[in-house]
Amino acid sequence: MTDDGGIAELVRGALSEALALLLPVVCAGCGAPDTTLCDDCTAAVAPCPLARMVDAPGGGVTVWSGLVFDGVAARVIRALKEEGRTPLARALAPALTAAARRLDARDAVLVPLPTSRGAYRRRGFRVPDLLAARAGLPVARLLQPVRRTGDQRRLDREGRRRNVAQSLSAAPCEGRRVIVLDDVITTGASVEEAVRALRAAGADVIGAVTVAATPRRANERRPRGVAFETHR
Ligand SMILES: [Zn+2]
Repeated sequence: MTDDGGIAELVRGALSEALALLLPVVCAGCGAPDTTLCDDCTAAVAPCPLARMVDAPGGGVTVWSGLVFDGVAARVIRALKEEGRTPLARALAPALTAAARRLDARDAVLVPLPTSRGAYRRRGFRVPDLLAARAGLPVARLLQPVRRTGDQRRLDREGRRRNVAQSLSAAPCEGRRVIVLDDVITTGASVEEAVRALRAAGADVIGAVTVAATPRRANERRPRGVAFETHR
């Protein structure tokens, strides 16, 4: 006869086997088994900082990104954001650090784009804040949403600008040196809105940093005022 402890152990064993079938650990970059991120994919998310300029009221700002949002880097960032694979933040942190180093960050604080209530409820964490924490960079949550915005994913640059215009407000921060922080820059519309709100609150915006930047498509016209360059 099996005692209760034995039954509990059997149940636990069966459960962990079932979970292993449901949630096998595979490399987020290539799907190789039994690793969170294999050596090749870890090498693929090594920083290669690139810059672009984003227009903003009061003057354009330089946005430094640690990686191109493409291939392995894009899959790893999606696995972090959409599958909640938070251990991957550690592998992405060097890209954020490298991007931040390109700006004169002395006495500056990183101000993350706010995470919507829905996204926070779904994920249980804030993506930009987690990345900054893993990079050892201090953040100040000075920005707050003042209205809901629609899903950005299917919108073009102008659509995104309209969607996020006047959607943020910043806590008073007169004379404070700040760097806008986001996970991925796509069209720059969210960064532009963050810069607008921070400047309206008195901040001295030094620039912006993201872990990754989407590549420009070959058939896409270069948006006005946006330069794209890479620095290895
Ligand atoms: Zn891999």
